[in-house]
Formats: sequence, structure tokens, C-alpha cells
Amino acid sequence: MHLVTDFDGVWTDPSRELEAVHHTLVEALALLSGRTRATTADDYADFSATVLGQPHRHGWRIEGRLTSYVDEDSFALPTAIGQYIDAAADRTAGFYRDAILRQWGAVSEFLDHCYHSTCDRFRATHPHDLARGAEKVLAWLVAHGCQVTFVTNAPAAKVIDWFAHQGVAVDDAGDPPAAPGPLKVYGRAGKQRLGCSGASVLCGGREVQIDRPSYRAILSKEKADAVLGDVYSLDLALPLAMRARGEEGAPVWVGLMHLRHTPQWVLQGVPQQQAPDWRLAHVTSLPRLISSCSDLPPRCPNPEAALPSMDSIPAGRGNRA
Ligand SMILES: [Mg+2]
Repeated sequence: MHLVTDFDGVWTDPSRELEAVHHTLVEALALLSGRTRATTADDYADFSATVLGQPHRHGWRIEGRLTSYVDEDSFALPTAIGQYIDAAADRTAGFYRDAILRQWGAVSEFLDHCYHSTCDRFRATHPHDLARGAEKVLAWLVAHGCQVTFVTNAPAAKVIDWFAHQGVAVDDAGDPPAAPGPLKVYGRAGKQRLGCSGASVLCGGREVQIDRPSYRAILSKEKADAVLGDVYSLDLALPLAMRARGEEGAPVWVGLMHLRHTPQWVLQGVPQQQAPDWRLAHVTSLPRLISSCSDLPPRCPNPEAALPSMDSIPAGRGNRA
């Protein structure tokens, strides 16, 4: 069994890091604009409510197309707010846009700086922020002969360092060792990058982009048995489309993290041939799901005995969704 998996939102709970990005943006906007922090925070909350109120129109927009939607991708909310400030006609957005552009060449440069500086600081001050039991799940997968490939837009060092802190070695796919192990990571994988074909599928009323050349190249190379992710558009729409078309490198199984914010259009609006097979409330559900779909050697008679009891999926709903 070879699993290709996203990292943040699957093996981590990114809420603390996300809060840190919001905090950085509010502080920076207050500094640039000269408004008080309290007033800026109120304005930022208004922007947030506006983009979340129209999630089909906002998210992570690249050259005019949404590569993910703000209601499925919580980590995209600061980007969506920044892109709203960059483009909106209202006076408050224009006020902050002007303030940013007095110091930065483009709003996108300001946003990138806020994201990267915050995430670097977060990693410098947090040895890891893995989901509880994540390292035990990974150890279980390795013990049962599974290969795990992380494909993430985060830097490879984040995955390598956080698991190293828990005593688990992950190789850098960009700089593989002479004797590679069963775990590796493609960092800065560019899953958000879109090709020029504009190919998309209609899911729950949303147009979801599936021409993702960087991600496709990795999927085609790795030929994983299963793909796992928490953001339908970024992580799952392409492998599901590849499977529906019988393309080489398409996975057999596809799993979606069913998190608190996972929107209804993903859970109920996706056509059957584009729907994930598994829904996982927590990464500790993986051993049960993988045991049910493969002929893993029974090295551990009770594979989940050593794992935290966090699998809150009701009986009978975890497998084929
Ligand atoms: Mg993710």
C-alpha cells in the first residue's frame, strides 16, 4: 500500500498556525494604516465575514481562477481577505489597499511576507503541532509495509522536523538519500498551480479546477494506491478525475478529512464518480480503513489498540462514503 497524503489538516491541526497568520495580518495592517489595532481588527473581521458570506466567490485566487474555496480551505482565509482588500471597490478595502501599496509593490507580496514570516516564526517556536497520535499512525503504517508520501505546499522541512521530533524519519523527495526509507515528502509541491487548459469539474455547484500540472506530475510518478487530503479542490479533485478517466497514476482509494468546517457542497454535492471513498474524522482512522482495503500482513492482531481513541466516525460510515 502506497499512500500519498497532504500534511496540514490531515496530520496536523493547523488552527493555531492559522490564528498566528491572522494576528500578523491585523498587526501589519494597523502599522501600515495608522489605525488602532482594535479598529483594524474590527475592519478585518468585517472583511472576513464578507468573504465567508460568499464562499463561492472567494478563496485562493490565482490569475483569476479559484484554486480552492475559502469555506473548504480554512488556511486560505487570510489570502482571501487580502485578495478582497486588493480588489474590492468599498472604501475601507481601498483605505487598506492604499496603505499596503505605500510600502509594498503589490498586495500579494505583502500577503506572502505575512504568511511566510509567521509560519517560519511558528516553526521556530513550536517543535511540532502534529495531531494527537499522528506519529503512532505513521509507525503503524510503516510496520505494516506501507509507503507514505507527503505532498504538501508547506516546506519539506516542516514535515521532516516535526516528525523527527517524534522520532520518525521522513526523507526529502527533492534530495533523496542513497538508501531511501518508506516515508518521504514533496515540499512546496505547488498543488495550487493551475495549467492553462482551464479543465474543471462541477461539484456541488462549484467549478473545481483539475488542471494542476505540478500535482499531476507527482501523482503520475508515485502511482499511489490511495490519496488523502482535507481540501477537496487542492488535494482530491485531480486524483478523482484521473481515476474516473482511468488514467495512469490514478489512485484506487481516495480519502477526505471530514473536519468541523468541511462544507456541505463537498459532503453532499459532489457527484458519485467524483466523491471520495473514505471520510476520516481524524488521522487515527487510517489503520482501520487501510486494513479494510488491503491485504496487509497481520503483524499486529489489534492494530488500533495502541492508538488514541479518536475515531468518531459513526459505525458504517467510514468506508465508502
Ligand atoms: Mg491541507
